[in-house]
Amino acid sequence: MTSEQNYYNYEWLLNRAYSSLPKKAFMKRKERFVIPRAEVIISGKKTFITNFKQICETVNRDPKIVLKFLLKELGSPGEFTDQAAIIQGEFPSKTINTLVNRFVKDYVICPVCNSPDTILIKERKIMYLKCMACGATSPVRPI
Ligand SMILES: [Zn+2]
Repeated sequence: MTSEQNYYNYEWLLNRAYSSLPKKAFMKRKERFVIPRAEVIISGKKTFITNFKQICETVNRDPKIVLKFLLKELGSPGEFTDQAAIIQGEFPSKTINTLVNRFVKDYVICPVCNSPDTILIKERKIMYLKCMACGATSPVRPI
């Protein structure tokens, strides 16, 4: 092995060491992650979550997935509009908020490092939570 080869090898190793440094130090969110409290209005035998869109945006999840979870847990049909979710039946604010918190715990927060910086991946019938902070992939119960 010539000295030139050694030099390049060293540089290559150095580059590789840098590029494999965990990115979490740079990606870690400064602000505390706060789940918005669901604003619930019951009217005409229907339950309205008026800040549904805001909740979905904060937790960075598709409203379809969030609604599907809620409807499955409540055992009731429903839909969402531009801003709100409308669920058939009367469900108290406490019930809705408990479910929203459970959704966040199970489908948003990384069980390894507690970061909310995650994405939900659905492969065939299997769902995973992929953490953008620590890189962990955790299987979750399919919705
Ligand atoms: Zn993580």
